[in-house]
Amino acid sequence: MPITDAEIKSTIFSIPDDKAPGPDGYSSHFFKTSWDLVGGDFRFHPLCKSMKLSSLMFADDLLLFSKGDVGSIMILLRTFSTFSQASGLQMSRGKSNVYFNGVSSEVRREIVQVSGCIEGKLPFKYLGVPIKPSKLSIKDCQPLIDKVFERIRQLGTKKLSYAGRLVLIKAVYRTLHSYWASIFIIPKAVLLKIEAICRNFLWHGGTEYARTPLVAGQNFALIEGGGLGPRDEYSWNKARVGKLGQEWEDYNPPQDASWTWKKVCKLKQEFQPAYHQNEWAMVPGKEYTIKKGYSWLRPTSQAVSWSHIVWTKWSIPKHSFIAWLYYQQGFNTKHKLYRFGIVPDSSYCICAQKEESPPHLFFQCQYSRRVIQKVQDWTGVTMSATNTQNWWQHRRFTRLKNGVLNSILNAAMYYIWNQRNASRHEGVIISPGRCVMMIQADIRNRIKHQLQGTVSRKDKHWIEKLLH
Ligand SMILES: [Zn+2]
Repeated sequence: MPITDAEIKSTIFSIPDDKAPGPDGYSSHFFKTSWDLVGGDFRFHPLCKSMKLSSLMFADDLLLFSKGDVGSIMILLRTFSTFSQASGLQMSRGKSNVYFNGVSSEVRREIVQVSGCIEGKLPFKYLGVPIKPSKLSIKDCQPLIDKVFERIRQLGTKKLSYAGRLVLIKAVYRTLHSYWASIFIIPKAVLLKIEAICRNFLWHGGTEYARTPLVAGQNFALIEGGGLGPRDEYSWNKARVGKLGQEWEDYNPPQDASWTWKKVCKLKQEFQPAYHQNEWAMVPGKEYTIKKGYSWLRPTSQAVSWSHIVWTKWSIPKHSFIAWLYYQQGFNTKHKLYRFGIVPDSSYCICAQKEESPPHLFFQCQYSRRVIQKVQDWTGVTMSATNTQNWWQHRRFTRLKNGVLNSILNAAMYYIWNQRNASRHEGVIISPGRCVMMIQADIRNRIKHQLQGTVSRKDKHWIEKLLH
């Protein structure tokens, strides 16, 4: 083999990892390692010959292709061992499979022997889903649905709060994104099914869909729009494909190309207006990110102005969750919560004077006003009583200060909500002063936990005062 370790290394590391879609188009994570295997007796797999393709790599997995003869396999393995020495990455032979098509049983045996790999059965499956040229069916994706079910079942049997369940669902979706959606184009029906499982689990803690959701179902999918995190998976899946860039704009897939490949090409066309001369043109000078593609795919009217208030990193998730419900009008207390059995028949507020409505409870009730007054004293910032999108009257705060102020507002809503429940169920509430002490304790912990690096001079004094 006329190649050196250094050459292999430089070739491998010279390829940006999100460039160059794999010729079968499964994923933007695919990239060619393009080893120069020509020379020696290496023979390419017949379908890879014109592309000179010998390997595809994505996530932690490497696929090698060659003609099914012992000589080619030996060269492949030798090259891999050179790669191992250069990179330190080893192949786990007992966990690796070799797949054959149209190879005699004699040669197969020999190859299995020299490679030390296990012979796998076709169709080749990746993460439990068959790799095939036709469209994936719901049945093909059943392992994915099962995994989501299983994960929720395992962790979800514990008694979790809404916020806890939300965290769990986010974890499920993260897995979905980092593996599945980057490799397969998942049929819309499958994504809807997964979404239904997650939504049902969020609202009812179970895997059966029985009761009316607290918040209308379609809101579930809006993350940019201040939604619940799990987003419109279909668009997200598409946005991943958009990452492939437009380098081969004029390319048309051949008639006999696989379903997946045609689909990828079609999606690329959908992204075409957003590209200009191979650059993501929506934000000039910036590279494409999946998030950008996603926002581009989804109409902006779905974005809401309170999303940043609710989902600030300075907030504890359970606080964010209560605030989120408020903005979603999920606290349409008399109707919805009553149906959930959360509310006994009284429709009077903590103050026992007014009928309860969310704006009254959180911002107008005498109890809440005393809490908010004390919070204002503590933060030194006055809240607007009327502007629900801009609670804190000063706009010229730093990002840090805005974030922390929003988290304090979320915490206040959370504790007011707690006290409202306590007054319903136990008939007692703590004083506004004690309520604020609980808010302070949570906020101080959270700040200490989230604060990284040094605080700018502008904020330093203020943060220190909060933490004191
Ligand atoms: Zn009241």
